[in-house]
Amino acid sequence: MYSRYYCVGSLCSLHLKNHRLQDECSMITKMFTVGTLFTNCYVVGCTETKEALIIDPGFETDLEAETVLKEIDQRKLQVRQIINTHGHHDHTAGNGIMKTLTGAPILIHEYDAPMLTDSTKNLSVLFGLRTASLPPANRMLHDGDVVQVGDIALRVLHTPGHSRGGISLLGAEAVFTGDTLFAGSIGRTDLPGSSYEEIMLSLKKLATLPDHMRVYPGHGPTSTIREEKRQNPFLQNFSTSPDTF
Ligand SMILES: [Zn+2]
Ligand SMILES: [Zn+2]
Repeated sequence: MYSRYYCVGSLCSLHLKNHRLQDECSMITKMFTVGTLFTNCYVVGCTETKEALIIDPGFETDLEAETVLKEIDQRKLQVRQIINTHGHHDHTAGNGIMKTLTGAPILIHEYDAPMLTDSTKNLSVLFGLRTASLPPANRMLHDGDVVQVGDIALRVLHTPGHSRGGISLLGAEAVFTGDTLFAGSIGRTDLPGSSYEEIMLSLKKLATLPDHMRVYPGHGPTSTIREEKRQNPFLQNFSTSPDTF
């Protein structure tokens, strides 16, 4: 068991990527790609107050958690919240270690909160991943809630379809879309709690955001709303006219 764990850890260290995205006015955003499903974990920090939040710590190894914490320490950030865009294991597996190391509460939409403590509902059983139970949510999120960290405010958009309690987090210049919207694609809708009809309504909602807004998805490269309306086949019904590009 130990050797398998070590082996998985070594593998993960090879693809643990650390991308510097941008420092937009008072917001620091850093993306780390973690776990066997290459999940994007984001650290969002306020340059003024040095407060920060972590989105989707899907760590499968302690090394991944340590790498992210090292970055947080180097920037002298204080983690105030841990937010899950939804309850699947690849986005929540590191909740426990991050909560232990930072003392920060865990926030998730109320519909996905039960997934944290149920290894069948969070798909860790289905994908054969580590099934250690995760701590329960400390705060349930709802559509329209605002999560504040220092000078940064992220508004909760309920974007179900990939899971019942999927959310996107809307900042001034960027939106974190979890597994609802990817660059050129969308999240799976064949899983328990998924709905193609619902994800299409969620995508319609996201398509109303300003074109220049950056998209930080749960997997894969970053994008913009403009680019997704232009080339994502699932957003073609919501495209603006070509002469706006
Ligand atoms: Zn997912
Ligand atoms: Zn995912």
